Amino acid sequence: MIHENYPYKLPELLFPYNALEPYITEETMHYHYDKHFKGYIDKLNAALAPYPALQRRSLIWLLKNPNAIPREVRDSVMKNAGGVYNHYMYFHGLSPAGSGAHLPTGEYLKLIEKTWGSFDGFKTAFNAKAMEVFGSGWTVLKKTSRGKLEIINLPNQRVDLRSNTKPLVYVDVWEHAYYLQYKNLRQDYLNNIWNVIDFSKKQ
Ligand code: MN
Repeated sequence: MIHENYPYKLPELLFPYNALEPYITEETMHYHYDKHFKGYIDKLNAALAPYPALQRRSLIWLLKNPNAIPREVRDSVMKNAGGVYNHYMYFHGLSPAGSGAHLPTGEYLKLIEKTWGSFDGFKTAFNAKAMEVFGSGWTVLKKTSRGKLEIINLPNQRVDLRSNTKPLVYVDVWEHAYYLQYKNLRQDYLNNIWNVIDFSKKQ
């Protein structure tokens, strides 16, 4: 979807809505996917509706070229395109606990161990970074072109499209991602999310 253009459509979820239970409930998935994710898609389409020239551009192009977007619609396009991109990356990187690869292996694991000592050390560092998100945002593990790993936070629907980095793990830290189930306990959501993060997904 990120290389496609207007009109954007909600991608098919690749597993049933209840398949991430008990770590993410069916109710959370319905609200998050069908309301929040779809909401960003609908609002982006609405913002682009009067602009045929922008409709031909891909989501990635829009995000990389804010100055090419007319001022009166720039804020709306950037916020909603960011929301579409971030949610796509998040949901694309999840899979049910009974399928997929929920542990990094090979070179990926070696790099994690080199950086944080162990996979547990990495998860502790990632979760600590995610706990620092004030308000709404995202925590992302990125690999740089120099082969280093880094954990970054992105506020609201900001994106990081630096061409010399690649996202590997994407976690939504907005309250809507966990509040229905975990209430205010973000740390519990973060501890559990690793059961459904899929390390085999190429972003
Ligand atoms: Mn979200």
